[in-house]
Amino acid sequence: LLIAIEGIDGAGKTTLAHTLAQHLRAAGAVVVLGKEPTNGPWGTRLRATAATGRLSPEQEVEYLLHDRRQHVDEVITPALARGEIVILDRYFPSMVAYQGAAGLPLDQMLQANDFAPRPNLLLLLDLLPEQGLERIRARGDKPNHFETAQNLERCRVIFQQLDLPNKQLIDASQNEAEVLGDAYAAIAAALAL
Ligand code: C5P
Ligand code: MG
Repeated sequence: LLIAIEGIDGAGKTTLAHTLAQHLRAAGAVVVLGKEPTNGPWGTRLRATAATGRLSPEQEVEYLLHDRRQHVDEVITPALARGEIVILDRYFPSMVAYQGAAGLPLDQMLQANDFAPRPNLLLLLDLLPEQGLERIRARGDKPNHFETAQNLERCRVIFQQLDLPNKQLIDASQNEAEVLGDAYAAIAAALAL
């Protein structure tokens, strides 16, 4: 089972990925947690540039696709083949949203990700950009230079409009327990199919 968690910065993706993994493991499931961009060579390079000057969107796509191919081949596909639950903190929809917000055509980026296994469940944590930025500041991080309310709003709209199967919108302005409850209900429904 492949579960992807998506949403803008500050929406609570990392928190939900960890608490979900904890609960599913307590219930006896084998869970593999993945985060994109990964801490492999391509993801590391991308994160390093995000902290200073931003690459061109085309270059970002190139790095991100190398990173995802490696993640899919080395981690995601083998875990799915073993019948494990894979939870991803960001996946290809983030590329459509973030590089799409930077001006690249959405359909082209979806096509470029044809190789990536489709999520059985795509949990979209939906939040106002101002609230996301507030949470980033509250945890002591400094939003990077492209994490502006305007840019995150563009990403949010793309996430909302993205027409992908198994997409479930979750109100990320709720507290941690409520978000987890909604996510758990969506997983239970997906497993019952
Ligand atoms: O918060 P997280 O650790 O997921 O941060 C990843 C960073 O990389 C974010 O600041 C996000 O803006 C950026 N990113 C991006 N394009 C993607 C995925 C993430 O610019 N496709
Ligand atoms: Mg972030």
